Amino acid sequence: MNRAATIQRLRETLSARDERERALPRAKCRVCGGWARKGEGERTREPEFADARDKADHAYWLSRQPGDVDGWRRTCAMCARAEAEKRAASTILLAVVGSHDLKEHEASRVIGVLRNRDPDGPGFVGGVTAEANGRATGTPWDHVSDADRGRLREAWATLIAARSPRPSQWGGCGMCGRAEAVGDWWRAPDTLRWPDGSRTAFCAACAAVWDRRGGPSHIDDLRRVGVEAATGWPVPLGNSAPPLFRLFAESRSADPAGLTESWSWSDGLRQYIEEVWTRHPAYAPEHRREGFEQRRRVEFAAMTAEASSEKIRQEAATW
Ligand SMILES: [Zn+2]
Ligand SMILES: [Zn+2]
Repeated sequence: MNRAATIQRLRETLSARDERERALPRAKCRVCGGWARKGEGERTREPEFADARDKADHAYWLSRQPGDVDGWRRTCAMCARAEAEKRAASTILLAVVGSHDLKEHEASRVIGVLRNRDPDGPGFVGGVTAEANGRATGTPWDHVSDADRGRLREAWATLIAARSPRPSQWGGCGMCGRAEAVGDWWRAPDTLRWPDGSRTAFCAACAAVWDRRGGPSHIDDLRRVGVEAATGWPVPLGNSAPPLFRLFAESRSADPAGLTESWSWSDGLRQYIEEVWTRHPAYAPEHRREGFEQRRRVEFAAMTAEASSEKIRQEAATW
């Protein structure tokens, strides 16, 4: 056989294969609902069924999914890549809402709103993927209704808003004094009040320490929590906060309007915090740690020197 005939044969084989491929059914992507060509993306394994009835139910359900030969088990190349790179949720948000500004775990939380029961809607909403939605149109993300898009946009806006610092309805933090903070504000126990007797709140940072220590209400325990919130150093069991240590709401500077900076209302307080960090440099903010380690060495050397000169004095006195 000559060369030209071989090439011709090869060409025929290839085009016949292309034709067969084109004739093969396509499947819809279980994630975005767009068409995935045969061989494209990934196919999840056969679902496992508890019994024959479940299997029959599933077969019946599949028979009612028109145009999808792969039974919701095909993921298109784009969606498969997003899943493999662990950015599935943020990819969905970008495609559906146009939001670039979310980390993956935040995007999952936003999408989570569609999995919750919708009080005004028809009950269980389901989810944002074509599979969870039970509908695929062949155009990516076209199955997401305008109402669901609205819900996602709203949840996204709420999340973005929670990222900026804001005041609480009870004023600044009764513990650290800051006027505005990121995250949720907690109601403080009634044992800590503003000088006019009104309620105070804890910012998320102080509330986290308070909660970790069992949410105490006695003022002595609250002050211990305060020391830890201010310095990071957990006051050992059985010890109390220093006698002059006060929380913002019980301090002379107490003001429900709060302060720009936490733990900043007195020089004595600043000094105390620095003393703690000198004794325990590991709890100092990272960028200041080395400075406090240095200070600790200097103070330790001075103490040792003082002790030995005192010893010499004492020995001299006995001569
Ligand atoms: Zn897809
Ligand atoms: Zn606080």
